[in-house]
Formats: sequence, C-alpha cells, structure tokens
Amino acid sequence: MPQNVDKILDHAPLFREPEYKQMLAEKAKLENMPSAETVTQIADWTKSWEYREKNFARESLSVNPAKACQPLGAVFVSAGFERTMSFVHGSQGCVAYYRSHLSRHFKEPSSAVSSSMTEDAAVFGGLNNMVDGLANTYKLYDPKMIAVSTTCMAEVIGDDLHSFINTAKLKGSVPETFDVPFAHTPAFVGSHVTGYDNMLKGILEHFWKGQTRTPDTSINIIPGFDGFAVGNNRELKRVLGLMGVKYTILSDVSDQFDTPSDGEFRMFDGGTSLEAAREAVNARATLSLQEYCTPKTLEYAESFGQETASFHYPLGVQATDELLQKISELTGKPVPQELELERGRLIDAMADSQSWLHGKTYAIYGDPDFVYGMARFILETGGEPKHCLATNGTKAWEEQMQELFASSPFGAGCKAWGGRDLWHMRSLLATESVDLLIGNSYGKYLERDTDTPLIRLMFPIFDRHHHHRFPVWGYQGGLRVLVTLLDKIFDKLDADTIDPGVTDYSFDLTR
Ligand code: SF4
Repeated sequence: MPQNVDKILDHAPLFREPEYKQMLAEKAKLENMPSAETVTQIADWTKSWEYREKNFARESLSVNPAKACQPLGAVFVSAGFERTMSFVHGSQGCVAYYRSHLSRHFKEPSSAVSSSMTEDAAVFGGLNNMVDGLANTYKLYDPKMIAVSTTCMAEVIGDDLHSFINTAKLKGSVPETFDVPFAHTPAFVGSHVTGYDNMLKGILEHFWKGQTRTPDTSINIIPGFDGFAVGNNRELKRVLGLMGVKYTILSDVSDQFDTPSDGEFRMFDGGTSLEAAREAVNARATLSLQEYCTPKTLEYAESFGQETASFHYPLGVQATDELLQKISELTGKPVPQELELERGRLIDAMADSQSWLHGKTYAIYGDPDFVYGMARFILETGGEPKHCLATNGTKAWEEQMQELFASSPFGAGCKAWGGRDLWHMRSLLATESVDLLIGNSYGKYLERDTDTPLIRLMFPIFDRHHHHRFPVWGYQGGLRVLVTLLDKIFDKLDADTIDPGVTDYSFDLTR
C-alpha cells in the first residue's frame, strides 16, 4: 500500500498512487459512467448560448444558490453580544451547519446550541425541548444572554417562541429576569441577511420595548453580516476613535471570532455589552453599513425617534467618504487630517496602478450590499463589473445596481442579476467571459470550469486562511482590496507569459 508509517501521504498525492487510480477507474465502470467524450460534449453544450437561455428560463429549481438560510444570520449577529449563547430551536443538524460554516471561515470555535427536536417534537411541538434546552444551556455554559432563533422544522409546525420561553421561565429553566431575546427565522424565506435583521431586531426589542428614550449624542452602528467582520469592525473602531465619536456597535463579533491562543479557552469573548445594547435606545441615530441586513431593525430604531441611514458595504473612496461625512454631520466632529491623508494615499495607489486596472472586466457575486459596494469600487478603478449577481438580491436591488452602473462610463453593458444562482453565473461566464471573478470559496469550481481567475472577498472563505483578519472597509481596507485585485492580475499575467521563447517576451521584472 502507498500509505504506511514511513511515508504518510496527504490525500492529494495519495489518490494519485497507482492502486487508487485503478480503484477509481473500476468504480467508474461499476457506476456505468458515460464515456469521457459524452461528458465533454454535454459539458460544452452547457456552456452555449442555447443552454444559457434554457438555464435562465428555469423557475422552480436553484442550483448552488449564493446564500445561506436565516438562522445562520441569527447565530452570527447573536455572537456579537457579550457572553451570548445562540439557541436555535429546531433540528440538530442545522445548528451543526451554522457552527461549522462559521468555524471553517473564521478558523475559530463557534458555539451555538440546538433544542434538538426529533420526530416526537415534530408531532407534539417542541415545548419540552425548549424547557430542557434552556435549562441545560444556562447551567452548562454560564451565558449572560441566550438568543433564540428557529430552524425550518420549528417554523413548519408553528412553535410559538414567546409563549415557549415564558413557559420555560415559569418552569424555572432560567431565572425570570434572565435575558432571552428571540426571533422567528423561517429558513424557507429570505436568507442569512434576513435572519441577521430579524434577530437583531428581536434583541433590541427585548432591551428597548417600553423604554422612554432620553436622547444623547452617541450613534449606533450596525455592521451587518460580514465575513471580514474581524478586520472591518476593528478598522471601524479605529476610525471612530480618530474622529472622537461616541458610538455603540450593535453586534461586534470581532473578538468572538478572533480569540488569542494564550492557554485559556474563551467560549465568549468581547461583544457589545448588554448594558450598551440597552442604552443604545438613547442614541441620536442608528446607521446601518448594509441596508439589506437591517430594514426591520432600522424601522424599529426610527419608531423611537432616532435618525437612521443605511449604506452598501463601505468599500472604496466614495463609499467611505459618504460614511465619514454622515458620521461627521450627525456628531459635529470633523473628519481628521489623518483620515484625509489615508484617502489621498488610496487614490495615489489607484492612480499608480491605473494602467493595469483600466478596462478590466469582472463578475461579482455575493450578498446584495457587498456586490453593490464591490461594483462601486471596481467602477472607481476604471474596471467594468459586467455580471453582478446576488441570489438574495431583489428587484429593488437590481434597480439600485442599474443606477450605479448608469453613474459611470464604465458601467455601460453591466447588468445585475437578483435571485439567480451560481449555475446561472456559470452560463454568464461561459457565454460572456470576463477577466476576473469576485466571490467566495464556492467560486473555485467556476474558476476551474470557465478559466476565470477567482478573487475571494465574500463569505464564506474556507480554502484560504486569515483574510478576515484584515479590513476591506474604509480607505485602508480599500488599499487592501486594491492590492488583492492587482496581485491576481499580475499572477495571471506572469502565468500567461511564462513559456520560454514563446510568450516570455513579456515575462517582465517590472510591471
Ligand atoms: S434551510 Fe432549514 S433545514 Fe436547511 S439548514 Fe436551514 S433551517 Fe435547517
């Protein structure tokens, strides 16, 4: 056998050993696989315009949607509050999925519990699971707050979280005054960004309901669901600190998903304090950095008389300008010179690399605000975001995107695709190719299939490490995104010019 104690092979080289090659060939025969020619023929046909039209006529089937379900967003936003344990009422496997999705992306343990409903609960309701589950969570994990959301299963049978939690409290699962906010997060509508909104509103309702607001000068900032939250939230705090602004970040996951290795395991770390969440009702304004993560939450903040404003993932020059100007306008604090210098340096870097960026074409997919923010930055670099796709994007989002395209000469011929999936994206890339694809780790199959280089800038990133520790927001973040784009462009150019005597007339030391 090729695998033995003297020669331990990783699975990538292991399955290239002759024994395994033969085994896989036998398996293909046993499974009656079509011939390699037939597979190639069909694969080629699925890259044609004829197939694209059939693909886009599809109505009742999603293939590789670029979104996750609501409870993932609920678990994410809950993790950004002090010593808060997510409790997902429903099936156990779903919660394993949220934990593993977050752990694989952030390379950190991710804690969330399930009420582990099975067949009996599906028939008789999950009240007993809630009563036992809350008691166990409270005793085993010592949280300060338990945030309850739901999976499909609990929603299909119509379990009522409000009455279940009240009953569990009456039965002594947790003390009467213990904080147990909740939100129904039916996974068969919306996506993880809807779940983020529902759960955040649920948490604020828990703390704010019945309170009388005494306005102060602070502002609330909601980052939204963001795979780069560790780097972005820290950058946001640095910028707000430079401006001298009094603020509360509503759900700050930056420490929870980036605990140090110093010999102590932290199930909970950092996060918005419960006291700050309670006091946030008094803020002058609430700003959302991702409009599509917060429609209900902002409406709720408005109902208390707060000013609100929303942005689309503040990435690049104009988007950062708008955010800083709004903060300055609301707080009366000027934008400090240090940030103006950072802005100038970003513009200088963009100008230095202009000849390589100008006219590059892109496909971008991900959450609606990310796609908007990314496309806007691409336009600033002189690039053309030809195909912009958000499975959880709506008609209203498509219209916003079209307005964005119309605002720049580089937006001509660009199109936004709301409600489409990655199989649609494959057709777009195969029929109207672009220079670069921006998305998440799932895009690596599109990269292989359509030969479009992938840049990983969207959650989840499973197959590259630690990107989330660096910001992509603000001027500093813009610089990092710029370098990421350029690295990919230069790597591709080097690869295309590497053949000695054939293409290496342009294998240059200086680019
Ligand atoms: S879609 Fe429903 S069943 Fe699937 S993981 Fe989400 S909650 Fe669970």
